[in-house]
Amino acid sequence: MPAQWRAQVISLFPEMFPGPLGCSLAGQALRQGLWSLDPIDLRTHGIGPHRKVDDTPYGGGSGMVMRADVIASALNEASNKNPDLPIYYMSPRGKPLQQTDVQTLALQPGCTILCGRFEGVDQRVLDYFSVQEVSIGDYILSGGELAAMAMIDACVRLLPGVLANPEATVEESFGAHGHGCLLEYPHYTQPAEFEGMAVPDVLRSGNHAHIRAWRLAQAEAATQKRRPDLWQRYTAAKK
Ligand code: SAH
Repeated sequence: MPAQWRAQVISLFPEMFPGPLGCSLAGQALRQGLWSLDPIDLRTHGIGPHRKVDDTPYGGGSGMVMRADVIASALNEASNKNPDLPIYYMSPRGKPLQQTDVQTLALQPGCTILCGRFEGVDQRVLDYFSVQEVSIGDYILSGGELAAMAMIDACVRLLPGVLANPEATVEESFGAHGHGCLLEYPHYTQPAEFEGMAVPDVLRSGNHAHIRAWRLAQAEAATQKRRPDLWQRYTAAKK
């Protein structure tokens, strides 16, 4: 059995975990021991009787910033428990997460994820621990927990034994199917007719070469129309 993939999550709201990660595929895999989840309660690292974790920003401005010393103490707990895990901080300033990053991360022993709150964390602790910053998109969440869950979920479904049909991950959007930057083709199932709309004939033809060609054409058309950025990468890669 492969070594267990480990997610260590530092958060002010450890009770949010496993949350959605305890359901469906990820939850089943968690119960089977294919991966493990260890929330670390940031509050226990807070300062003074009130376990303070944040303070006002130097230079002024609205909001509060998470203290470097508090975060460092939590990161030390994390690396004492699991010294070999890369450390990530979920942040809108980070590298936008892509399927290729997820594939790489799923091959690692796991990860330690720091979830921010308020305006974010003191820059020095990120520098000191060489933390990698990861964004899940160009919008602002109120905390890093949902972002961490998104990243963990994307990794867990790639772990061996989690999906009943692992080939599914090859064909899906951004999959490595010879054309790594296409959106997926559209899907159809029963009933054969819905609100006067039939399933495309080719999908009922039984001709697998035609079906493959049709799906590729559909994937290309959708990508060109919806995601000019991916389309440019795709056409450049084909040259
Ligand atoms: N002031 C920050 C936003 C803070 S939001 C800024 O303008 O960049 C509070 C926390 O939510 C962040 O510390 C981060 O951990 C998390 N977060 C918010 N949006 C995110 C995103 N798009 N991706 C990953 N994490 C995010």
